[in-house]
Amino acid sequence: MYPVVNLPSRRHSRDDEINYTLCLLCQTRTKQKLRNASEAGMSRIKQALSDRLKYNDVQNVLIMDRLQTVDLEGDFSNIRWHDHCYGPFTHSEHIKRLKAR
Ligand SMILES: [Zn+2]
Repeated sequence: MYPVVNLPSRRHSRDDEINYTLCLLCQTRTKQKLRNASEAGMSRIKQALSDRLKYNDVQNVLIMDRLQTVDLEGDFSNIRWHDHCYGPFTHSEHIKRLKAR
């Protein structure tokens, strides 16, 4: 038997888990078209994220965790998403419903 090789410890730099060629929200390769992030889009995402964190959204924990590893204040030129991911996440009615619980 060979001795177990020590794997290098996992880097914990910001956003090393994000694949920017995929949708930021679902990180899934689909046939759906990706839309490039815009400044307005980023600000809605940031707002939705902070509201969902505040109201303890348990449905979108995965997306929320992922968004929190991304520098949302920084350059967004490499960020893209699906309309069908962005839409529900930033939908004000969904967020209102969380708030009402
Ligand atoms: Zn998506």
